[in-house]
Amino acid sequence: MPDTFKAILISRDEEKKQSVAVTELTDADLMEGDVTVAVEATTVNYKDGLAITGKAPVVRRFPLVPGIDFAGTVIQSVHPDWKEGDKVILNGWGVGETHYGAYAGHARVNGDWLVPLPESMTAHQAMAVGTAGYTAMLCILALERHGITPTRGPVVVTGAAGGVGSVAVSILSRLGYHVVASTGRAAEETYLRDLGAAEIIARDELSGPAKPLNKERWAGGIDAVGSHTLANVLSMTSYGGAVAACGLAQGMDLPASVAPFILRGVSLLGIDSVMAPKPIRIEAWRRIASDLDHAKLAALSTTVGFDGIVQAAHDIVEGRVRGRIVVDME
Ligand code: NDP
Repeated sequence: MPDTFKAILISRDEEKKQSVAVTELTDADLMEGDVTVAVEATTVNYKDGLAITGKAPVVRRFPLVPGIDFAGTVIQSVHPDWKEGDKVILNGWGVGETHYGAYAGHARVNGDWLVPLPESMTAHQAMAVGTAGYTAMLCILALERHGITPTRGPVVVTGAAGGVGSVAVSILSRLGYHVVASTGRAAEETYLRDLGAAEIIARDELSGPAKPLNKERWAGGIDAVGSHTLANVLSMTSYGGAVAACGLAQGMDLPASVAPFILRGVSLLGIDSVMAPKPIRIEAWRRIASDLDHAKLAALSTTVGFDGIVQAAHDIVEGRVRGRIVVDME
């Protein structure tokens, strides 16, 4: 009998009604790929929450093992870059959307999608960062490329108590930025200050309809929220500043005007983690390993086991999760 491992499987019936079950799979059940990885840690990202609850069409083939990111050890490889025993990370590339994902004991993927686990990090730590944290780093790299240094002025982070936001606040403050954290959860003020936020503003200040231009408040922004919030962030960005947009927690729309772009030379920087090319991924993980304080990483993450994934997925779409959720697969 081949070895089996636990997996979460999302299926759909003839009426397109989605169901989620825990099942046992073997390596023969996995999809094509040239590297098989024993998954040691994964996470529950907002997108995983949408996939499991079915609230948005993240899953695009059925049945599917969800889970968009993992860290683990290679157990089989015919890919020239990887051999048995290598420690690896995977983020995105359609894993957990069109390709069997992380919520299983083993994952078989294309070796080109993998990056090495930084030597100073464990699989658990890498997944405390996860796709949300790696996306936060992509945002920071984009701001840096645009010349937004700490001396240029404050940087606002929206959805600050969420996964992207928490990692962004921690890293930006460690790099010396004056971080303005926007949150809808006043109770998380101490948490955000401990991560390094210098100022806390209420989500309501940014969530209503935006004026074309408003008082200049920050040199840069990392926006995980979209919609009116992003429009307000842009309208309050100072001359020559830039905003990295990566999320849609408030909405996918952008009810903004061109005024910040044409009158203040503000730039809107789009951030995609899923198809980001490999060199930028390696750079992002290198910078995470060097720039993220491990004590803060521990403070912003909570750990669940495999059996806690489905509940955590519901919690994250209901806005009940603070920081990051790590799943230890043991
Ligand atoms: P979380 O759910 O952990 O964080 C989102 C945060 O947004 C919440 O914690 C909350 O922060 C805030 N928020 C929630 N609902 C609203 C609302 N209606 N209006 C205003 N603010 C709201 O998710 P993640 O951090 O994992 O992801 C954040 C976003 O980034 C998601 O939209 C996700 O899909 C996207 N994303 C995009 C990626 C990419 O490649 N572009 C990669 C990873 C994530 P608070 O309580 O502090 O107000």
